[in-house]
Amino acid sequence: MNSEEELAAVAREVETCTDCKLHLSRKKAVPGEGPANADLMFVGEGPGFHENEQGRPFVGAAGRFLEELLASIGLTREDVFIGNVVKCRPPGNRDPQANEIKACAKYLDRQIRAIDPKVIITLGRFSMGRYFPNAKISAIHGQERVINGRLVVPMYHPAAALHQPSLRRVVEEDFARLPELIAQQRNSAPSPQAAQDDPEQLSLF
Ligand code: URA
Ligand code: SF4
Repeated sequence: MNSEEELAAVAREVETCTDCKLHLSRKKAVPGEGPANADLMFVGEGPGFHENEQGRPFVGAAGRFLEELLASIGLTREDVFIGNVVKCRPPGNRDPQANEIKACAKYLDRQIRAIDPKVIITLGRFSMGRYFPNAKISAIHGQERVINGRLVVPMYHPAAALHQPSLRRVVEEDFARLPELIAQQRNSAPSPQAAQDDPEQLSLF
């Protein structure tokens, strides 16, 4: 199976998945979207109201801000892969629970392996927790780390910046470093192919 086929398979499977109770509040699953060969992969939290209606990630207010941030570095949403730690909407937009994130991790693991992005950007604390358990986002945001052979950059969730205007600048500054990080990865590593992207290691919950 090539990477496009694998992404399509994941998208199909999450539509009918019943592996956690979030399937009960699902209207449309939101597998994530973007090119199968994207250099950048953004991992958010989970679908909200609009995402659940449309089956697409980041289509509400936070999505508009994410698009602005991408534009600030010369990219559009079509250039990157955008996904979430859970593919179905938590009722009332509550936080996803550890058992739900764990049940859904297999899909994100497969997407990451298929895409093999140069840089993964975690948006908010739930996707950060996948790579930086127990870290505080205020302490580590914007600081890249090589994890399992791949560059991971934790960032604030765009929705956090919308609710807390002082964070806006912080997110913009963290974003501004991405082009340099991508270039660095392109030069140093022909392929970061994370042979070690072992689901066992990545499923930290
Ligand atoms: N917030 C997220 O974390 N993910 C989405 O897809 C939309 C909003
Ligand atoms: Fe399955 Fe993930 Fe949806 Fe839970 S959130 S039902 S694990 S696709």
